[in-house]
Amino acid sequence: MAIMTRDFNSVDLIDPHEAALAVKRQALELGADAVGIGDIGRWAGAPLQLDPKQIMPECKSIVGMVFRVERGSLRGVEEGTYFSNYSAMGYGGLTYVYIPMTVINLCKFIEDQGYEAIPMGHQSDWRAVNIKGYVGENFSRPVRPGQAIPDVMIHLRIAAFLCGLGEIGFSKMFLSPQFGPRCRVGIVLTDVELEPDPIYDGPKLCNRCMACVRACPGQAFSTEKTVKVNLAGHEVEWSDIDVLKCNDAFRGLVHSGEKQEHPYLDTPGNEDSVPGSWSPFWNRPTPLYKTGQAVCGSRGCTRACMISLESRGVLQNTFKQKFRRRPVWSVDWSKPPEYAPGTVFKPADKDGVD
Ligand code: SF4
Ligand code: SF4
Repeated sequence: MAIMTRDFNSVDLIDPHEAALAVKRQALELGADAVGIGDIGRWAGAPLQLDPKQIMPECKSIVGMVFRVERGSLRGVEEGTYFSNYSAMGYGGLTYVYIPMTVINLCKFIEDQGYEAIPMGHQSDWRAVNIKGYVGENFSRPVRPGQAIPDVMIHLRIAAFLCGLGEIGFSKMFLSPQFGPRCRVGIVLTDVELEPDPIYDGPKLCNRCMACVRACPGQAFSTEKTVKVNLAGHEVEWSDIDVLKCNDAFRGLVHSGEKQEHPYLDTPGNEDSVPGSWSPFWNRPTPLYKTGQAVCGSRGCTRACMISLESRGVLQNTFKQKFRRRPVWSVDWSKPPEYAPGTVFKPADKDGVD
């Protein structure tokens, strides 16, 4: 009996059309929900810190993949009873487990045929640009003259756009024609030449309905200040989102302006934090899979937008029942809680583990 191994050089990726078909089939089989390809020329003029050629100078193609967030994963937040599922399955787990597994396996398929491939998801913790887009001081330094500062990070939503997978909405969320904003993106950079897909030209997804703006608990979207970029000859515009406001509201946090004895989030700068009306938690729950702490359940940028897109009938992943079935809930923290019959607390005379 001999050891067994994968088949090397069993699929010929010489022809760009056939190679693109083979790579796309693999991506879908491995778990992507949609896959498109952009040729590297579409990234010409990319900012230095976001330029894929800084990572792989010989890169010829980028494979973009859309991964859905299950609509059911948002159900518990929508009902106000089960928040961890979206943060775990729809956010952290997708970002840190599912997408990496899929892009890694797609890279194995490409590398088995003799071409290099880089798997990439949202793992941007080492990136040199901060959330405002600036290079941080004293973080890292270029290793050769003329090169970007490590780490370069490719803008995933722009990559999905350049791979023909959909639009970038006013909310700056990537909107796919299958799922709207209910998705995340993974990419693979490779030196194999793959036939590119056209930039998305299907039914208009973002119609500037502003549902995202109205429903965002952090009021993070500006309707006056926008960001305009030219992506491979296409003008794209989105709201100049206040990422710091989002960062607070995302975790369910409001700054009261007064130091709290038990702050909602007990970290420097948040000593005055209290829960907002969109958080049922006395304190910010611990992150799931590192970054999953989406207490707001993407109320504006995902849920409100998805409801709007579904009601217009522009999404391909349709459902038998509409998503919002009951009035939007809100917590009144000025009043004591009213517990439902059946809620059992530990009796005062019992010790031990809660
Ligand atoms: S909610 Fe409306 S304006 Fe906002 S991104 Fe979605 S479609 Fe565009
Ligand atoms: S994650 Fe929440 S706070 Fe941030 S933009 Fe979306 S709805 Fe607003």
